Amino acid sequence: MESIESLGEFGLIKRIAKTITIKQPTTKKGIGDDCAVIDTTADNLKVVTTDLLLEGIHFDLTYCPLKHLGYKAVAVNLSDVCAMNARPQQITVSIGVSGKFTLKAIDDLYDGIRAACDRYGVDLVGGDTTSSLTGLTISITAIGEQRTGKLSYRDGAHENDIICVSGNLGAAYMGLQLLEREKKVLHGDKTSQPELKGYEYILERQLKPEPRTDVVDFLEKIGVVPTSMMDVSDGLSSELMHICTQSDKGCRIYEDKIPIHEQTRKMCEELSINPIVAALNGGEDYELLFTIKQEDYQKFQSTPGPEIYAIGYVCDKDKGRRLITTGGDEAELQAQGWRFFSSNTSDK
Ligand code: ADP
Ligand code: MG
Repeated sequence: MESIESLGEFGLIKRIAKTITIKQPTTKKGIGDDCAVIDTTADNLKVVTTDLLLEGIHFDLTYCPLKHLGYKAVAVNLSDVCAMNARPQQITVSIGVSGKFTLKAIDDLYDGIRAACDRYGVDLVGGDTTSSLTGLTISITAIGEQRTGKLSYRDGAHENDIICVSGNLGAAYMGLQLLEREKKVLHGDKTSQPELKGYEYILERQLKPEPRTDVVDFLEKIGVVPTSMMDVSDGLSSELMHICTQSDKGCRIYEDKIPIHEQTRKMCEELSINPIVAALNGGEDYELLFTIKQEDYQKFQSTPGPEIYAIGYVCDKDKGRRLITTGGDEAELQAQGWRFFSSNTSDK
């Protein structure tokens, strides 16, 4: 196989461009000119979001295969678009690559990027390519759209709104704990095989998160616009703090209503971690956390669709932000993010 060096920057871009087909009607020009060209539609608003991922800080190639990394890098950006209640349509991908990478590695990365684009009907319309001194850098920008008046911001939660989440929490974090444990085992003993059996679900949640475009579609179908919304990237506790702070409100959530997968519980037991702590502070689940008016709640129950869990309600700011435990005690919520657990895991 050719090397990146012999192919050169333009050869590499050509190689990437060759594999891309345009799907979105709003994409008027993709890769190949100085700019991509995107149509604007009357009455619609565009949303734009960017993420920067650095090797050794945000990802570790020892246990995150490049194809998964490509997929995940796109997925988390699309998740931000969903968190505005918008639909993703285009992305740009910029990469900085060091000499240690082979052409095969870049192909793998773009296989993952393309798989995510195909799955979510998003066009890769441009980017930038440069060499780096060490490691891999990936920056992705996603562009999406929603009709005026249908976007959900972080600051719109009202007193008595119901707090909802679109799926179980803590699984991605426990998947990461499992991978880190196995990495340590591997470093100590080259002959041992990772013991990942029975934990496929939490591994998938860590390695292959999915943006909840289906939830955005469902909200449209039942005619509900969340009063506020975020995606769970840093952990439920931290995201709730953002919504409460920006909306100038307090909240109550119930321990026994927070959805936690059985594999998450099992891994927690093995590593002596309280599952509720993993759910509150774990992060990277990329579920949607949102608030809705009380009268909208019955619309979720009367139409079949993705499972939505009501976990609490919004209250006056003076009442604080609290977790009501299964035993009936109240605990103050704190935005601890990852840091609650250890200082050497990836952070964002
Ligand atoms: P410029 O010199 O204007 O930055 P480039 O030669 O870098 O142009 O890029 C040429 C075209 O290829 C542009 O449309 C750009 O968006 C696209 N492109 C460059 N790098 C990538 C990449 N890594 N992935 C996707 N598209 C890319
Ligand atoms: Mg360029």
